[in-house]
Amino acid sequence: MWEYAPAPESRDVANLKPAYRPFIGGEFAEGGGEPRKTVNPATEEVLAEVSTASRADVDTAVKAARKAYDRTWRKLPGSERAKYLFRIARLIQERARELAVLESLDNGKPIKESRDSDVPTAAAHFFYHAGWADKLDHAGLGPSPKPLGVAGQIIPWNFPLLMLAWKVAPALATGNTVVLKPAETTPLTALVFAEICQQAGLPPGVVNILPGAGDIGAELVNHPDVDKIAFTGSTEVGKQIQRAVAGTRKRLTLELGGKAANIVFDDAAIDQAVEGIVNGIFFNQGHVCCAGSRLLVQESVADELLAKLRARISTLRVGDPLDKNTDVGAVNSAEQLARITELADSGDVEGARRWTSPCPVPDRGFFFAPTVFSGVEQSMRIAREEIFGPVLSVLTFRTPDEAVAKANNTPYGLSAGIWTEKGSRILWTANKLRAGVVWANTFNRFDPAAPFGGYQESGFGREGGRTGLEAYLHV
Ligand code: NAD
Repeated sequence: MWEYAPAPESRDVANLKPAYRPFIGGEFAEGGGEPRKTVNPATEEVLAEVSTASRADVDTAVKAARKAYDRTWRKLPGSERAKYLFRIARLIQERARELAVLESLDNGKPIKESRDSDVPTAAAHFFYHAGWADKLDHAGLGPSPKPLGVAGQIIPWNFPLLMLAWKVAPALATGNTVVLKPAETTPLTALVFAEICQQAGLPPGVVNILPGAGDIGAELVNHPDVDKIAFTGSTEVGKQIQRAVAGTRKRLTLELGGKAANIVFDDAAIDQAVEGIVNGIFFNQGHVCCAGSRLLVQESVADELLAKLRARISTLRVGDPLDKNTDVGAVNSAEQLARITELADSGDVEGARRWTSPCPVPDRGFFFAPTVFSGVEQSMRIAREEIFGPVLSVLTFRTPDEAVAKANNTPYGLSAGIWTEKGSRILWTANKLRAGVVWANTFNRFDPAAPFGGYQESGFGREGGRTGLEAYLHV
């Protein structure tokens, strides 16, 4: 009988020091890559120096994951795996304050978001998947589903801990082991998560975490002993990865970019819609793959809606991510700020009307004031390209058919929103939208039980829910 490690309470948490180093085979390793400084985007000051992984470390981590898979993890009954997942979930809750502060420092997001959304939702993913670990035979996936083996997981910088939870929790619940690469600008909470794995007594090698840049991600993708790649990030890199795994045995899921339409019909509750539009595009500074970045509003209510929207946006507070009153924090990096600026400028050049919130914006740090473009045409770059920042493009429509045609006029297809008081219109519209997630009279709601993923160039595969388990199983 497998004996699992002592309960977390019996470990001396106080003696655990933040070790911003690769986590391989249950230990923090030196890391053969170039050390990398991670910057606080709100102050431009260095936050921590991180020892990164080398290509040789990728191989060591994959070997550690393989050994853990063969010797312990895949042999454990689901009920035992569940205990570890529950324990990890509890430890995330216990260390929630530390994780939330670190996430806001490293990423730039407002503390009220990391405290109330990122960290609790990450814990919820482990609780949810703990519940599946001993029920896979009864999940309706077919008899005795089997894990794939070693999963290579690559995540972006916009929700560093939450994207980790979306990837690691289902992989472990289904009996796979993991080598995960966080984004280069936001590795810190992933390395605290590594400590949590130690605290939880997770068998060495079940989770390995390799800070590093894209070359380390590519090394992981190309490693011959990895059975599955799960990637969240840009469509461009997603396509490179798709090409790299073609012709190999690797299974692949891709969660890529988006350009979601948030559709407001003339019968919508306008004040409620205004709140949903603000949340849809300014949550996490708009660094959200499913952000409601295209507002499609029915012509007859467009003037009223835009006036109310500008008034509401004017009240948003932009600034220090650690201030509990901050609504919009810092853009994650100078590069991202430059990209947002360039795309917004293209809106001016192509003839859209720019409105910028009059709210004060700090002089230091990477900040971008909430911005709304009206008079946007579908051909403009700000209507077509993912800005990944606090910039809203407003288009109008006359009929529901026109709304659907404009909403679907994108190579992406991750999410969409519908605002109407008519239930029949919600169903009619949702059925016609090519988007993996459709919200009605709300936006940016996430639940571990709801599968999340895209159509078209937003990728394939689903994360969350029973469907998400399939990505990690032979059924
Ligand atoms: P990115 O594609 O540049 O990087 C994502 C990750 O891939 C990082 O860890 C990076 O180091 C790594 N990487 C870079 N090049 C690689 C390569 N050649 N091989 C393997 N790994 C490589 O994306 P980003 O700028 O970090 O994130 C923003 C993008 O992520 C946006 O397009 C956004 O829409 C998307 N995103 C999608 C979802 C979703 O669920 N669909 C969620 C969050 C973010």
